[in-house]
Amino acid sequence: MPEMPEVEQVRKTLAPHITGKKITAVEVRLPRLIKFPSAEEFAGRLTGRTITEVGRRGKYLVLHTDSGSRLIVHLRMTGALIAQSSDKPEPPYAKIKFTLSDGVIMWFTDIRTFGTLYLVTDGDYYIEGYETLGPEPLSGDFTPAYLQPLAAGSRRAIKSFILDQTVIAGLGNIYADECLALAGINPMRAAGSLSAEEIDALCRAVNTVIAQGIKNRGTTFRDYKDGEGKSGENQKYLLVYGRGGKPCKSCGRPLATAKVGGRGTTYCEFCQK
Ligand SMILES: [Zn+2]
Repeated sequence: MPEMPEVEQVRKTLAPHITGKKITAVEVRLPRLIKFPSAEEFAGRLTGRTITEVGRRGKYLVLHTDSGSRLIVHLRMTGALIAQSSDKPEPPYAKIKFTLSDGVIMWFTDIRTFGTLYLVTDGDYYIEGYETLGPEPLSGDFTPAYLQPLAAGSRRAIKSFILDQTVIAGLGNIYADECLALAGINPMRAAGSLSAEEIDALCRAVNTVIAQGIKNRGTTFRDYKDGEGKSGENQKYLLVYGRGGKPCKSCGRPLATAKVGGRGTTYCEFCQK
Protein backbone atom coordinates (compact mmCIF):
# COMPACT_ATOMS: atom_id res chain seq x y z
CA MET A 1 0.00 0.00 0.00
CA PRO A 2 1.38 3.43 -0.85
CA GLU A 3 2.47 5.30 2.28
CA MET A 4 3.33 8.95 2.76
CA PRO A 5 6.57 8.97 0.67
CA GLU A 6 4.85 7.20 -2.24
CA VAL A 7 1.86 9.54 -2.16
CA GLU A 8 4.22 12.52 -1.94
CA GLN A 9 6.07 11.19 -4.99
CA VAL A 10 2.76 10.86 -6.85
CA ARG A 11 1.95 14.45 -5.87
CA LYS A 12 5.31 15.75 -7.08
CA THR A 13 5.19 13.93 -10.40
CA LEU A 14 1.52 14.71 -11.13
CA ALA A 15 1.61 18.40 -10.23
CA PRO A 16 3.59 19.73 -13.24
CA HIS A 17 1.33 17.85 -15.69
CA ILE A 18 -2.08 18.83 -14.26
CA THR A 19 -1.76 22.13 -12.37
CA GLY A 20 -3.57 24.90 -14.23
CA LYS A 21 -5.31 22.40 -16.53
CA LYS A 22 -9.06 22.46 -17.08
CA ILE A 23 -11.07 19.25 -16.65
CA THR A 24 -13.09 18.96 -19.86
CA ALA A 25 -14.65 15.51 -19.30
CA VAL A 26 -14.85 12.85 -16.58
CA GLU A 27 -15.67 9.22 -17.34
CA VAL A 28 -16.34 7.04 -14.30
CA ARG A 29 -16.20 3.37 -15.27
CA LEU A 30 -16.55 1.98 -11.74
CA PRO A 31 -19.00 4.21 -9.83
CA ARG A 32 -18.49 2.55 -6.43
CA LEU A 33 -14.98 4.06 -6.20
CA ILE A 34 -16.66 7.48 -5.76
CA LYS A 35 -17.67 7.73 -2.11
CA PHE A 36 -19.12 11.25 -2.31
CA PRO A 37 -21.17 12.63 -4.04
CA SER A 38 -22.79 10.23 -6.56
CA ALA A 39 -20.63 9.29 -9.54
CA GLU A 40 -22.88 11.38 -11.78
CA GLU A 41 -22.61 14.49 -9.59
CA PHE A 42 -18.88 13.87 -9.20
CA ALA A 43 -18.40 14.00 -12.96
CA GLY A 44 -20.80 16.93 -13.40
CA ARG A 45 -19.28 19.12 -10.71
CA LEU A 46 -15.69 18.51 -11.86
CA THR A 47 -16.30 19.16 -15.53
CA GLY A 48 -15.27 22.70 -16.45
CA ARG A 49 -13.20 23.17 -13.28
CA THR A 50 -9.51 24.02 -13.32
CA ILE A 51 -7.01 22.22 -11.07
CA THR A 52 -5.26 24.97 -9.11
CA GLU A 53 -3.02 23.00 -6.76
CA VAL A 54 -1.97 19.42 -6.05
CA GLY A 55 -1.56 18.82 -2.31
CA ARG A 56 -1.26 15.92 0.08
CA ARG A 57 -2.33 15.14 3.63
CA GLY A 58 -1.10 11.86 5.14
CA LYS A 59 -1.75 9.22 2.48
CA TYR A 60 -4.42 11.33 0.76
CA LEU A 61 -3.89 13.31 -2.44
CA VAL A 62 -5.78 16.61 -2.43
CA LEU A 63 -6.47 18.25 -5.80
CA HIS A 64 -7.82 21.78 -5.34
CA THR A 65 -10.09 23.31 -7.98
CA ASP A 66 -11.02 26.88 -8.88
CA SER A 67 -14.55 26.40 -7.44
CA GLY A 68 -13.10 25.79 -3.97
CA SER A 69 -13.98 22.10 -4.09
CA ARG A 70 -11.30 19.49 -3.46
CA LEU A 71 -10.88 16.12 -5.13
CA ILE A 72 -9.52 13.87 -2.38
CA VAL A 73 -8.06 10.52 -3.40
CA HIS A 74 -6.89 7.62 -1.26
CA LEU A 75 -4.99 5.04 -3.33
CA ARG A 76 -5.42 2.24 -0.74
CA MET A 77 -3.84 -1.02 -1.98
CA THR A 78 -3.24 -0.63 -5.69
CA GLY A 79 -4.75 2.69 -6.83
CA ALA A 80 -2.66 5.02 -9.02
CA LEU A 81 -3.13 8.43 -10.60
CA ILE A 82 -1.15 8.78 -13.81
CA ALA A 83 -0.99 11.79 -16.12
CA GLN A 84 -0.07 11.16 -19.73
CA SER A 85 -0.51 12.59 -23.17
CA SER A 86 -3.84 11.74 -24.86
CA ASP A 87 -2.05 10.02 -27.77
CA LYS A 88 -0.60 7.35 -25.45
CA PRO A 89 -2.44 4.04 -25.04
CA GLU A 90 -4.78 3.66 -22.11
CA PRO A 91 -3.02 2.13 -19.08
CA PRO A 92 -4.26 -1.23 -17.74
CA TYR A 93 -6.99 -1.29 -15.06
CA ALA A 94 -8.18 2.23 -15.97
CA LYS A 95 -11.25 2.97 -13.86
CA ILE A 96 -11.68 6.76 -14.20
CA LYS A 97 -10.64 8.98 -17.09
CA PHE A 98 -10.18 12.70 -16.50
CA THR A 99 -9.74 14.50 -19.82
CA LEU A 100 -7.77 17.71 -19.22
CA SER A 101 -6.99 20.67 -21.45
CA ASP A 102 -3.83 20.68 -23.63
CA GLY A 103 -4.07 17.00 -24.57
CA VAL A 104 -3.48 15.55 -21.11
CA ILE A 105 -5.38 12.60 -19.65
CA MET A 106 -5.25 11.84 -15.93
CA TRP A 107 -6.11 8.18 -15.34
CA PHE A 108 -7.14 6.63 -12.07
CA THR A 109 -6.14 2.98 -12.35
CA ASP A 110 -6.74 0.30 -9.75
CA ILE A 111 -6.13 -3.45 -9.88
CA ARG A 112 -7.90 -4.45 -6.68
CA THR A 113 -10.33 -1.47 -6.72
CA PHE A 114 -10.09 -0.53 -3.03
CA GLY A 115 -9.23 3.10 -3.92
CA THR A 116 -11.60 5.84 -2.76
CA LEU A 117 -12.36 9.26 -4.25
CA TYR A 118 -14.33 12.15 -2.78
CA LEU A 119 -15.29 15.55 -4.13
CA VAL A 120 -15.89 17.84 -1.19
CA THR A 121 -16.49 21.49 -0.51
CA ASP A 122 -15.83 22.69 3.04
CA GLY A 123 -18.20 21.04 5.48
CA ASP A 124 -20.41 19.12 3.07
CA TYR A 125 -18.99 15.68 3.82
CA TYR A 126 -17.03 14.15 6.69
CA ILE A 127 -14.31 11.85 5.39
CA GLU A 128 -13.70 9.21 8.02
CA GLY A 129 -10.00 9.13 8.84
CA TYR A 130 -9.13 12.31 6.96
CA GLU A 131 -10.38 14.94 9.40
CA THR A 132 -8.59 13.35 12.37
CA LEU A 133 -5.10 12.97 10.85
CA GLY A 134 -2.20 13.68 13.20
CA PRO A 135 0.78 15.86 12.31
CA GLU A 136 2.92 15.13 9.25
CA PRO A 137 6.44 13.71 9.65
CA LEU A 138 9.05 16.38 8.77
CA SER A 139 6.64 19.13 9.89
CA GLY A 140 7.20 21.50 12.80
CA ASP A 141 4.25 19.94 14.66
CA PHE A 142 5.82 16.50 14.80
CA THR A 143 8.19 16.73 17.77
CA PRO A 144 9.14 14.69 20.87
CA ALA A 145 7.16 17.22 22.94
CA TYR A 146 4.07 16.33 20.90
CA LEU A 147 4.65 12.55 20.98
CA GLN A 148 5.71 12.10 24.61
CA PRO A 149 2.36 12.86 26.33
CA LEU A 150 0.44 10.74 23.80
CA ALA A 151 2.71 7.75 24.43
CA ALA A 152 2.80 8.21 28.20
CA GLY A 153 0.72 5.56 29.95
CA SER A 154 -0.18 3.83 26.67
CA ARG A 155 -0.03 0.04 26.76
CA ARG A 156 -0.40 -0.30 22.99
CA ALA A 157 2.54 -1.79 21.13
CA ILE A 158 4.74 1.04 19.87
CA LYS A 159 4.33 -0.23 16.32
CA SER A 160 0.51 -0.02 16.52
CA PHE A 161 0.88 3.40 18.13
CA ILE A 162 2.94 4.87 15.27
CA LEU A 163 0.65 3.24 12.66
CA ASP A 164 -2.30 5.13 14.17
CA GLN A 165 -2.98 7.92 11.63
CA THR A 166 -4.37 10.18 14.39
CA VAL A 167 -0.91 10.03 16.06
CA ILE A 168 1.25 10.49 12.92
CA ALA A 169 -0.13 10.97 9.41
CA GLY A 170 1.22 8.77 6.69
CA LEU A 171 3.11 5.82 8.18
CA GLY A 172 2.14 2.32 6.99
CA ASN A 173 3.58 -1.13 7.61
CA ILE A 174 6.82 -0.67 5.64
CA TYR A 175 7.94 2.64 7.11
CA ALA A 176 6.76 1.75 10.65
CA ASP A 177 9.09 -1.29 10.68
CA GLU A 178 11.91 0.80 9.21
CA CYS A 179 11.49 3.60 11.77
CA LEU A 180 11.60 1.19 14.72
CA ALA A 181 14.66 -0.58 13.28
CA LEU A 182 16.52 2.71 12.84
CA ALA A 183 15.53 3.87 16.34
CA GLY A 184 16.60 0.50 17.84
CA ILE A 185 13.19 -0.05 19.48
CA ASN A 186 11.41 -3.43 19.69
CA PRO A 187 8.04 -3.11 17.90
CA MET A 188 6.22 -4.99 20.68
CA ARG A 189 7.26 -2.63 23.48
CA ALA A 190 4.39 -0.73 25.11
CA ALA A 191 4.36 2.86 23.83
CA GLY A 192 4.24 4.10 27.44
CA SER A 193 7.47 2.26 28.31
CA LEU A 194 9.64 4.42 26.02
CA SER A 195 12.08 6.75 27.76
CA ALA A 196 12.40 10.42 26.73
CA GLU A 197 15.62 9.48 24.90
CA GLU A 198 13.81 6.72 23.00
CA ILE A 199 10.96 9.08 22.04
CA ASP A 200 13.62 11.51 20.73
CA ALA A 201 15.30 8.70 18.76
CA LEU A 202 11.95 7.56 17.36
CA CYS A 203 11.03 11.08 16.19
CA ARG A 204 14.41 11.45 14.49
CA ALA A 205 14.08 7.99 12.92
CA VAL A 206 10.59 8.75 11.55
CA ASN A 207 11.87 11.92 9.91
CA THR A 208 15.01 10.22 8.54
CA VAL A 209 13.16 7.21 7.15
CA ILE A 210 10.41 9.31 5.55
CA ALA A 211 12.93 11.76 4.06
CA GLN A 212 14.90 8.84 2.62
CA GLY A 213 11.73 7.30 1.17
CA ILE A 214 10.88 10.60 -0.53
CA LYS A 215 14.44 11.05 -1.81
CA ASN A 216 14.35 7.53 -3.32
CA ARG A 217 10.96 8.25 -4.97
CA GLY A 218 9.06 5.74 -2.84
CA THR A 219 9.20 1.99 -2.28
CA THR A 220 7.91 -0.38 -4.97
CA PHE A 221 7.33 -4.04 -4.12
CA ARG A 222 4.53 -4.91 -6.48
CA ASP A 223 2.18 -2.28 -7.79
CA TYR A 224 3.12 1.20 -6.66
CA LYS A 225 3.82 3.66 -9.50
CA ASP A 226 4.23 7.42 -9.36
CA GLY A 227 2.26 10.04 -11.31
CA GLU A 228 4.33 9.33 -14.43
CA GLY A 229 3.95 5.54 -14.12
CA LYS A 230 7.49 4.99 -12.80
CA SER A 231 8.56 2.70 -9.93
CA GLY A 232 10.42 3.84 -6.81
CA GLU A 233 13.93 2.87 -5.65
CA ASN A 234 13.62 2.82 -1.86
CA GLN A 235 13.13 -0.98 -1.67
CA LYS A 236 16.91 -1.30 -2.25
CA TYR A 237 17.69 0.55 0.99
CA LEU A 238 15.28 -1.05 3.50
CA LEU A 239 16.78 -2.20 6.81
CA VAL A 240 14.20 -4.82 7.81
CA TYR A 241 10.92 -4.75 5.87
CA GLY A 242 10.56 -7.82 3.66
CA ARG A 243 13.90 -9.19 4.95
CA GLY A 244 12.70 -11.76 7.54
CA GLY A 245 15.38 -14.47 8.05
CA LYS A 246 18.00 -12.43 6.23
CA PRO A 247 20.99 -10.99 8.14
CA CYS A 248 20.44 -7.80 10.16
CA LYS A 249 22.43 -5.01 8.51
CA SER A 250 23.88 -4.04 11.93
CA CYS A 251 24.69 -7.32 13.74
CA GLY A 252 24.43 -9.94 10.97
CA ARG A 253 22.02 -12.20 12.90
CA PRO A 254 18.84 -13.33 11.11
CA LEU A 255 15.92 -10.91 11.34
CA ALA A 256 12.82 -12.14 13.22
CA THR A 257 9.21 -11.93 12.07
CA ALA A 258 6.09 -11.63 14.21
CA LYS A 259 2.53 -10.30 14.13
CA VAL A 260 2.04 -7.02 15.97
CA GLY A 261 -1.55 -5.75 16.10
CA GLY A 262 -2.33 -8.18 13.29
CA ARG A 263 0.36 -6.75 10.99
CA GLY A 264 3.36 -8.70 9.73
CA THR A 265 6.45 -7.26 11.40
CA THR A 266 10.17 -7.76 10.80
CA TYR A 267 12.77 -6.71 13.35
CA CYS A 268 16.10 -7.62 14.95
CA GLU A 269 15.68 -9.24 18.37
CA PHE A 270 19.22 -8.19 19.30
CA CYS A 271 19.50 -4.61 18.01
CA GLN A 272 15.94 -3.53 18.85
CA LYS A 273 15.46 -3.36 22.62
ZN1 LIG B 1 20.73 -6.78 14.62
